[in-house]
Amino acid sequence: MSLPFIDLKSQYAALKTSIDARIQRVLDHGQYIMGPEVKELEQALATYTGAKHCITVASGTEALLIALMALDFKPGDEVITTPFTFAATAEVIVLLGGVPVFVDIEPDTCNIDASLIEAAITPRTRAIMPVGLYGQVADMDEINAVAARHGLAVIEDAAQSFGASYKSRKSCNLSTFGCTSFFPSKPLGCYGDGGAIFTNDDAMAQASREIRVHGQSQRYTHTRLGVGGRMDTLQCAIVLGKLERFDWEVAQRLAIGERYQQLLAELPASLNIQRLVVRDDRDCVWAQFTLSVDHREQVQQRLQEAGIPTAIHYPKPLHQQPFYQRYGQGQSLPHSERAARRVMSLPMSADLAPAQQDSVIQALIAATRVSA
Ligand SMILES: *Cc1c(COP(=O)(O)O)cnc(C)c1O
Repeated sequence: MSLPFIDLKSQYAALKTSIDARIQRVLDHGQYIMGPEVKELEQALATYTGAKHCITVASGTEALLIALMALDFKPGDEVITTPFTFAATAEVIVLLGGVPVFVDIEPDTCNIDASLIEAAITPRTRAIMPVGLYGQVADMDEINAVAARHGLAVIEDAAQSFGASYKSRKSCNLSTFGCTSFFPSKPLGCYGDGGAIFTNDDAMAQASREIRVHGQSQRYTHTRLGVGGRMDTLQCAIVLGKLERFDWEVAQRLAIGERYQQLLAELPASLNIQRLVVRDDRDCVWAQFTLSVDHREQVQQRLQEAGIPTAIHYPKPLHQQPFYQRYGQGQSLPHSERAARRVMSLPMSADLAPAQQDSVIQALIAATRVSA
């Protein structure tokens, strides 16, 4: 048996007729840049999240960059964020001459610890950038409250949490900006690069739209500094196709994640496998189904031999990365460091069958027994 880590083939097989027809329609009308599917997708995603504005962009990274530019972010400005994330979160801050300020995570959810944020605020702080890691949104109410007290913006990095709910609201509609990614392996993916910015603020939406097309307020009137940050029509058409069964996929992800959690809860404590905690007032769309184990390398090796692919998100926190450690100043962020040593992600897709899940768990039991 060999299981895919993320099963995009079954998804395409289920949606082939619609996706192929949508691609063909773009080829027929030929408006490859800013064609009608771009607006159609933006309207569909705004409706889905409940946010007033959706602006599609070239990638999740570009979404974060454009959101910061819309805030008129200046060199030397600081952004408080988590070190336990993909590098893109901090990268955009540095690209604009800013400084990422890392605060530690909660050990049970692996999301930024909102109670540590206030102590990290300085006169240079402009924004807080929480990440909904693995598909579970961070403590957004607490983070928004700290931001409001200090006049800061909040940019939710929702690259992994699109589709997740928090207190009956959707990820991407929880703060000044929500930014997501349509990288193929994310909960809502395209067949290349893509992303989107969400906001309820008319001025921020207008600024983001202009920055996306080289800062133009109208053709060849460059009102501000911008980037070439559009998402192509073909990729928008593909996401429109994927939206047709996205509600079903989210329900599947929640159910499959819950089933994994239950199967893990039944394992002997001696295996020392730790589950992620999902808070009662929110859910997790499991962009990655992640847990923590001892002797991770041996466990991964054993699983690989049994045909079960695994991955690590992420093996080193940003404050210990060769480039980003200059911003950590030898900081010790023990929960991030421990998580980076122990986390491991299992195969996860909306099409993962119960029998496949059972074999993953059986292989995990065998692998952890041998390694203990
Ligand atoms: C994937 C990801 C990004 C970047 O998205 P791209 O579309 O690949 O640019 C940013 N932040 C997090 C947390 C991600 O997982």
